[in-house]
Amino acid sequence: MNKKYECTICKHYGRPTFDKSTLERQSLYDDQGNPIPVILCRKHAVQLFQSGQKKFLISHYRILNDLIASDEMKFLELMERTVRANLDMIS
Ligand SMILES: [Zn+2]
Repeated sequence: MNKKYECTICKHYGRPTFDKSTLERQSLYDDQGNPIPVILCRKHAVQLFQSGQKKFLISHYRILNDLIASDEMKFLELMERTVRANLDMIS
């Protein structure tokens, strides 16, 4: 699988990341505090910063529909656990 640098969130929505120079490497953390790296565009990095990891992941729960063929299973596993544990926050 070739390693393209694009925003993890944008990619899963099928959107091109317009300005690749704004991509940032961010870390999410699993239940044990282990960092899970993700690449985010400026817009999504700001969203993560402003809303916090839990709200950020839950707001993008639709990405779970895109589980198949993903090369970012750890990110998705973390997201799935977070969303499943907080289903009441999804309207
Ligand atoms: Zn993005």
